[in-house]
Amino acid sequence: MNKKTLKDLVLKDKKVLVRCDFNVPLDKEGNITDDTRIVSALPTINYLLENGAAVILMSHLGRPGGQADRKYSLLPVAKRLSSLLGRDVCFEDRDLVVDDEVKASAAKLKPGDIMLLQNTRFRKEETKNAGTLAQDLASLGDLFVNDAFGTAHRAHSSNVGICEFLPSALGLLVEKEVEVMGNALKEPKRPFTAILGGAKVSDKIGVIENLLNIADKVLIGGGMTYTFLKAKGYNTGKSLLEEDKVDLAATILEKAKDKILLPVDTVVAREFRNDTEFFTVDADKIPDDWMGLDIGEKTGDMFADVINKSKTIIWNGPLGVFEMDNFAAGTNKVAKAIADNKDAISIIGGGDSAAAVEKTGLSKNITHISTGGGASLEFLEGKILPGIDAVDDK
Ligand code: AMP
Repeated sequence: MNKKTLKDLVLKDKKVLVRCDFNVPLDKEGNITDDTRIVSALPTINYLLENGAAVILMSHLGRPGGQADRKYSLLPVAKRLSSLLGRDVCFEDRDLVVDDEVKASAAKLKPGDIMLLQNTRFRKEETKNAGTLAQDLASLGDLFVNDAFGTAHRAHSSNVGICEFLPSALGLLVEKEVEVMGNALKEPKRPFTAILGGAKVSDKIGVIENLLNIADKVLIGGGMTYTFLKAKGYNTGKSLLEEDKVDLAATILEKAKDKILLPVDTVVAREFRNDTEFFTVDADKIPDDWMGLDIGEKTGDMFADVINKSKTIIWNGPLGVFEMDNFAAGTNKVAKAIADNKDAISIIGGGDSAAAVEKTGLSKNITHISTGGGASLEFLEGKILPGIDAVDDK
């Protein structure tokens, strides 16, 4: 890792601005329904406090559209954070995120104090990385730590702009994300298997192409299966199909015949809902008027067999419409196979796949579950993430 990390900073008596990912899900009453992201930020916060710093935390929450909309207030986060840490968190609820009063409070912070700023997206400048927001934020402290992997693929004021004004380093969470995924891509223990699902080929094409260069086997499932099956000349009935990607799928299959494993059977349904008629057919026998909503049992066994023999496993995207119980079996089988392989380095690329593994109750067996869906996808595409790139080199 050539980027500075917490260990490269002298923290005693410093005020450290930390960009966290507190973009937590809220219910209609504004209660946090899943605090994983807050819990994930604790190691960095505790490290800074234990080493004599005061911390000033910042994050976005939802999409307030550049306005001070209290529906997206970080107040619930402040409360949860305070109870998790067992200490006071001074929440600065300001329309402008940073104003003269915030500056005055920040100036008084002592080692061990914790301040949380209001949603950075209350200001339009945040997502544009323009104007004075980055400078205003930087004026509050001495050092900047980026611990928000979920937004690392975006160049915003609070993660990229601010690096121009303060010495910077990666937080423990981002450091782990970059190290585990970076090592898996650079020096994978082999055999290295990538499992790619999700809705569309067009969303995953960059990942497929990059991982085909590195992995030994690429297992394909989910909605994009049918564009590949079409490319093989099969009938796909009413399954999800990207007509304009069929030629591309054919080219990929031609180039990587020996690496790509496509489903050999699929669960087809009459309609796109859970309580509809469904049955399993071979992949080349999808009837007209039926749609493929999951991989079949033979495919699940075949994929599990490859997963069992792998030493590095990366998974992104469900293998079927796992939100509906009747079409979740393929995704669950793969999740369990990955969790059962305790010898492998296993990486789950956020979002739906992470939720599927959580459901197996075996997520403790997974080496790394990424906290950023979009960011991990771009990382796996081999792209440089601006939020990491902007941080000081060692
Ligand atoms: P993504 O965000 O691209 O990873 O896609 C996730 C979505 O793909 C989930 O909501 C799944 O329900 C959906 N999906 C998976 N398999 C299929 C399928 N065979 N047909 C339609 N949608 C699917």
